[in-house]
Amino acid sequence: MAKIQVLDENLIKKIAAGEVVERPASVAKELVENSIDAGATRIRVAIRAGGKQSIVVADDGAGMSREDISLCVHRHATSKMSSASDLFQIETLGFRGEALASIGAVSHLAIESRTGEAEEGTRLVIEGGIQREIHGMGRAQGTTISVRNLFFNTPARRKFLRHIDTEARHISQAIIHLAAGYPWIGFELEHQDRTVLNFAPASHKQRAADLLGIQPDGLLEAAEEAEGLHLEGVLAKPEHCGRSKGKQYLVVRGRPIYSRSMVDAVYRGFGGLLPEGRHPVFMLWLDMDPKKIDVNVHPTKREIRLAEEAQVIAGIETGIRHSLRMPDAKSFVYDRTTTAFTPTHIGEPAPLEFNPSLAFDPSAGGSGSGFTAIDKPADQLAFSLVAPAVPPMAPSHKGDDTATLQEAAQIWQLHRQYIIAEIADGLLFIDQQAAHERVKFSRAMAQLEGLAGESQQLLFPLKLEMGAADFAVFTELCEDIGRLGFIVRDFGERTVLVEAIPVDLESWGEGEVFYQLLNDARDGQASGRTWREAVVMAYVRKTRIAKGQKLSVAEMKSLVDQLLKTDEPHISPGGKPIMAKLQLSDVDRLFRKL
Ligand code: ADP
Ligand code: MG
Repeated sequence: MAKIQVLDENLIKKIAAGEVVERPASVAKELVENSIDAGATRIRVAIRAGGKQSIVVADDGAGMSREDISLCVHRHATSKMSSASDLFQIETLGFRGEALASIGAVSHLAIESRTGEAEEGTRLVIEGGIQREIHGMGRAQGTTISVRNLFFNTPARRKFLRHIDTEARHISQAIIHLAAGYPWIGFELEHQDRTVLNFAPASHKQRAADLLGIQPDGLLEAAEEAEGLHLEGVLAKPEHCGRSKGKQYLVVRGRPIYSRSMVDAVYRGFGGLLPEGRHPVFMLWLDMDPKKIDVNVHPTKREIRLAEEAQVIAGIETGIRHSLRMPDAKSFVYDRTTTAFTPTHIGEPAPLEFNPSLAFDPSAGGSGSGFTAIDKPADQLAFSLVAPAVPPMAPSHKGDDTATLQEAAQIWQLHRQYIIAEIADGLLFIDQQAAHERVKFSRAMAQLEGLAGESQQLLFPLKLEMGAADFAVFTELCEDIGRLGFIVRDFGERTVLVEAIPVDLESWGEGEVFYQLLNDARDGQASGRTWREAVVMAYVRKTRIAKGQKLSVAEMKSLVDQLLKTDEPHISPGGKPIMAKLQLSDVDRLFRKL
């Protein structure tokens, strides 16, 4: 028998699938790109179990005829290219005609679609590369593709998939990237019926606002037309410039890319307007002749090479400069025919719209201190201890002191550190901070198990970049962090977007607290706590009352009440005593009465 055999068609498909389909996120990306190519204005992605169970992508695009549906799952079936010369003029995202065939080979794939002209739609089902059914069905124009049980027939690959949350994060990252590239298309992502992302069809400015986490009125627009370059951009006004380079996006023909030389051009465009130590925040969309772009320099196509780089770089620099000099850059579009701006604007920059002395007050946050609570008068604090009405306590089973504490006749604060309560046989000293730690700890533990903590939306969602170590801790903890009240979205490339923080976090030092939280959690875990306890402890430290916090009588009573409701009112979660008792007899002894 000959050694060389022609591989069976199904095996070929499986092998090919390995190249196109690496994980659920690659499926989602291919399907969404197809929807974009089909001219969709809204694309909805719904996943289960991080896409491992199912990925459904629905669009309102052109749809496919019955004939096209049965063709589209064959390898090299594409409607986007018919001759070799087309290869160099590709306007669409996909063109190899491989995705659907590959996905169909390693999953249970169902395609439902209808074109505008067709009377009815068509449904096609493929299982492991084999066609199971094809029949007519009623449906709206557009396409819905569902991929279930990915890699069901390639167990080695399936085993290689990561945790549900990790796969889900990759999917949301892929969609965020596409949302950056196509502002006018609406994107939605649902995981287990929960909306994770929701971008309405928007202008470039609005989409940038959504992604950068800056209100549109803090943004300027830039536009530049030059030989072979069309640039549209949105940049934060200088006073909104970042402390890090985390919010810098370049999109070339719909794909987010990275280019050192283009980023440098933006910095040059800002020139002296960029305050010391700050970084521009921007999203730029560049369109140029595809023949002049080489996308094959980097395996993930994140970096590109340009044939006429110098022109592009110059265009970016000028575009940024013009936009910064004019409050509303859009109204002064560079005129390609006259190759000039209207004369009134040449060499006569419009006044800037911001007041630098206000905008860059160094004392305005980020100064390192996590707490501002101490400096504020107590009545200005949203002091969470003061529960409006504390229900009467049930008889305590927590020992004599605590039982009698409820009837404490009087209560005082000592040196803004201790609460003193008068009880039948003496005085009880309570370390206010340790007590508050215990209260916070039990509440946070309950949030992890049951109802999640309340969040407050940040006015400006903050994008945080993380090192690999922090990101690993974040990955481990992100679910628990969410239950504590943080609303955090993965932004890809080890960056996350924090949209909301727990209500009881009063000051969070522009994200500093978040890093500290991850750090402390890692330390805590290293010293033998579970991840869960470690993050809760770290969180408690961030939200507990300060040592020198003045408390009103009502606040003290409420704190004591809440302490007594916890299951361990004597010892703080850090292992320190919370209460100490001074016997009346000891006091008597001081005065030699005994
Ligand atoms: P490619 O995108 O490289 O052409 P695919 O395997 O991804 O290859 O898709 C094959 C063909 O199926 C596409 O060329 C297109 O004609 C059709 N198709 C796939 N998805 C859709 C969709 N959502 N809407 C309309 N047509 C689609
Ligand atoms: Mg495709």
